[in-house]
Parts: sequence; structure tokens; C-alpha cells
Amino acid sequence: MRPEISLDGDALRANADAFAALGAPVAAVVKHDGYGWGARRLVRELDDVVESYVVTDADELADLRPATAKPVRLLADAPPGRLARVLDLGGIPNVSSRAALAEAAGEAARRGGLTVRIGILDAAGWSTIRPEDARAFAAALAPAGLAVELWTHLTSYERAREILEGFVAAERTFTAAGVRVVSTDAASTGAARRGLAFDRLRVGVGLFGARLGASVDSRCALRVSAPIVRRFGPGEARWAGYGDTLIGVDRSVVVLRCGYGDGFPKTLADGADILSVGMQFTARVEHDGTDPRVLVGASDDVDELAARAGMTSQELVVGLAWR
Ligand SMILES: *Cc1c(COP(=O)(O)O)cnc(C)c1O
Repeated sequence: MRPEISLDGDALRANADAFAALGAPVAAVVKHDGYGWGARRLVRELDDVVESYVVTDADELADLRPATAKPVRLLADAPPGRLARVLDLGGIPNVSSRAALAEAAGEAARRGGLTVRIGILDAAGWSTIRPEDARAFAAALAPAGLAVELWTHLTSYERAREILEGFVAAERTFTAAGVRVVSTDAASTGAARRGLAFDRLRVGVGLFGARLGASVDSRCALRVSAPIVRRFGPGEARWAGYGDTLIGVDRSVVVLRCGYGDGFPKTLADGADILSVGMQFTARVEHDGTDPRVLVGASDDVDELAARAGMTSQELVVGLAWR
């Protein structure tokens, strides 16, 4: 007996469409092997509806490439000497250092042109240049004959405006320096709520049904259902889990074969509906009209579930895939 943890392909596609309806094509972010669900599997569901994909590096690109002919954009720079591999795999490389820029210029000369991605952001943890370095970087870039996709990432609600202003200023600086800026993208799932479409939306967790405040008509693509291993009628069991949760005398309880060992968050036990989550078993109150085996399904809201579990929506999605 095992829980069934799966994705609803129709919901995935509908969610990609729902984000595209905000006004820009969707680049599906399928890094970390598709948030743990299998990047190629996501491609099989999404290839007809998305504009392109985003992965971290050349290894993830190599995994994905056999499954799709669409553009694949990289978040990290290629390690020194490895840019040719990214290009041979048809990836759009990221460039955030002078060394990477020099290598890209060499490849551009050899290949008769090249498009690279340059991120503008002052935050460690991403492969970007700082807004204040845009002028000097643009000067080095202009003679290299590269086409540039400019991107940023709203890594902070407090600094969102500052990040965007730096981004727009950098675009002007690049263009004034004679750099050919061919596209811009700025929004992940959460940032989509600010109407920041630019030329494309980079959507990761939104594909699974998260909105993070964006007004999109998306739905939960995660499905978790588990076999019932035991049922207690009213009054038959007084305590659930490790003994701290009292079961009301008028309540029926089912024990499901699913737990945090299967990636179902332990923190979802709130003592009301889900009484306890252990390694392999979950105790849950039965309600008329709902299927007690369904722990996560179409009627759930990914962001609400994550909030109840005390997690980010990304953690919930990745955690359920971890098996
Ligand atoms: C991971 C990532 C995304 C996607 O983020 P979600 O919140 O999952 O939509 C977009 N852009 C960048 C730069 C990222 O690192």
C-alpha cells in the first residue's frame, strides 16, 4: 500500500495558459528537475503551450534537450571553458562576469553571432551584474557583437521598486552604449501580480497552481491520495498520533497510509481536520461529502496549503515530489 502522488497534466497546461493570459508568453522554469517532478515529464505536458524553458545550468539543459526543441534559457554562467557545450545543446547562456563575457565574445565571432542573457540585480545568490556596473559592462559588451536578453528578479518586496528602476535604467544604459537588447523579462510567479510581463513571464511554482498574489485563474495540479488502513467510528479512539490530540467523541477518524516519509508535510496536522502526520500514517477526521483518501486535490489551493504547513509554496511542491 502506497500513497498516490501525481500531477494533473490538464491543470499544468491550464495554469501555463492562465499566466500567459496576463499578456506575455510563459517561459516554464523547470530547474531542479522540474521542482523535483521530472523536467522531461513537465515538458511532455507543457511543450505545446509554453514559449521556452528555464534551467540552472548545462547539466539540466542536457537532461531536458532530448525532450524539446524549444529555447532553453540558463540561470547560471557556464563554468570557464564550458560555454561551447551550452551552445552546442542549443541553450541561451547567462553571462555575469568579464571572463564569461570574453568567452561569449569569442564564441560569437566563431559562430557569427550569439544571444546571451544578462541579469541586473544587486543580490547574492543569482548570476547577475549590479545595476551600478551596467555602464562599464555595457562598454565591454558593445564591441562583442552579442544580442542581449536582459532580466531581473524581484528578490525582495521591500526593494521591488528599486530593483525595477535599476533594471529599466540598465536597459537604457545598454541601448545607449549600442548594445542590442532583444528582449527583457522580470517576473516569476509572485512578481506576475505586479503586471511585470515585459517580453515573457518566468513561471515555476505557478505551473503547479501557486499564485503568490498574482490574479490568475490557476488551479492545484498536485494530487495526493492515500489508502485507508483503518477506520475508527465515533467514540472508538480518544487520542490521535503521539497522544496529544484529543478526538471528539462524535467524530469518525481514518488512518491513511501517507506521511512525512512521503513528503506530506507534518506541519499540516492542525488538530481540526488532519489530527496527526507521522512518518507513514496520517490520522484524519471524516466528513460527509468529501473523500477522506484525498489529502491534496483539485479543490485545494497550493498557497493556502503551504501557508497552513508553514512553508513556501515552492517548498510544498518540491517536498511532495521528493520520493
Ligand atoms: C526559480 C526562478 C524563477 C521561478 O520562480 P517561481 O517563484 O517558482 O515562479 C524565476 N526566475 C528566476 C531567476 C528563478 O531563479
